[in-house]
Amino acid sequence: MKAVVLKPGRDKAIRHRHHWIFSGAVRDLPEFEDGAVLPVRAADGELLGHAYFNRKSSITGRMVSFGQEPPEEAIRRSLDRALALRERYFDPAVTNARRLINAEGDGLPGLVADLYDDVLVLQVATLGMEKLKPLVVDHLAAALRPRAVYERSDLPARREEGLGDVEALLAGEAVERVRILEGGIPYWVVLTSGQKTGFYLDQRESRRLVRECAAGRRVLNTFAYTGSFSVCALLGGAVRADSVDSSAPAMALARENFELNGLPAGAGLFFTADVFEFLREPALDHDFIILDPPAFAKKRTDVVAGCRGYKDINRLALQRVRAPGLVLTFSCSHFVDEGLFQQVVFQAAHEAGRRVRILQKHRQAFDHPVNIYQPETAYLKGFLLYVD
Ligand code: SAH
Repeated sequence: MKAVVLKPGRDKAIRHRHHWIFSGAVRDLPEFEDGAVLPVRAADGELLGHAYFNRKSSITGRMVSFGQEPPEEAIRRSLDRALALRERYFDPAVTNARRLINAEGDGLPGLVADLYDDVLVLQVATLGMEKLKPLVVDHLAAALRPRAVYERSDLPARREEGLGDVEALLAGEAVERVRILEGGIPYWVVLTSGQKTGFYLDQRESRRLVRECAAGRRVLNTFAYTGSFSVCALLGGAVRADSVDSSAPAMALARENFELNGLPAGAGLFFTADVFEFLREPALDHDFIILDPPAFAKKRTDVVAGCRGYKDINRLALQRVRAPGLVLTFSCSHFVDEGLFQQVVFQAAHEAGRRVRILQKHRQAFDHPVNIYQPETAYLKGFLLYVD
């Protein structure tokens, strides 16, 4: 069978189970249709595994299997392993929303799958995974028997793959919203118009932290989306939790999440506003500020500008928070690693002229595992800061 052959000495990353093959590492590329799965061989002919290929992408190939295992068998096995990991650590009576498949973190490049109670939501990033979608959907549907399977593939990365956005019901009945449970707390997830696949499941452990340390505090939840941190703060005994987001539909759903949890209307204010401007409001009296912005550096070339954005909001929050106060700050840009983010926060603290200490560090929740062979799968990092 026709195979892709790597250049001599360029097989090391694949032998180390990294999933990506850059075009510069390829010696021979046979005739093939973009998106096809092909065997990958070292220069000496040894079979290293199988990858899907797309000439349009700078990451030409992405491995779906290593060694001799046939690719479709390997994909089914990766799906089963991913499900088994989550099966073990979630009690659906307490938490019925989770990430089932975390792309390379679960050995499945280009595929994210989230489960919201009995609704499965897929996100496909690449042409190769697009072609494998029928296999994936069949396998997951047989294992989980979901009420509905949605696709929410609206990632900018798809352009590079030659793909447009897809938002579709792939199987089952149309569902507009689902009531999920996380740590016993209910939230609404809107499937048809929300962000990402509907809910920021990666912040589950941080939501628990907020609940644990919000007692008696006046909380400002910025980049609040549907208000999950605000809900947790109030359930944890916060005096007040105000929410700010530039999206009016997100703020409307945040209000509904307050109602769903029986929180009184006066428990917090909702502002549809730009956080960069809001943090300059003169009347802020909060002693716990949460900063959970979108990725400011989506590409490597955005890192400098992105860090400027992170520094601005952190400086403003550190200046404005009442002492003794808390600031919980995050970055979800994987191009800004933890060391760089810490430097940015250091600079922000220095410019704010406040005494700042890191109490805890945070990462994405465990159902978003980081592949040890591919550290790029780590993207979310956060610090709980103490200001006095
Ligand atoms: N903390 C949220 C997730 C935040 S996602 C949660 O745990 O659910 C980032 C949010 O920032 C999005 O809801 C987006 O609408 C909002 N956003 C992006 N840029 C913004 C800006 N400049 N000002 C206010 N909100 C912004």
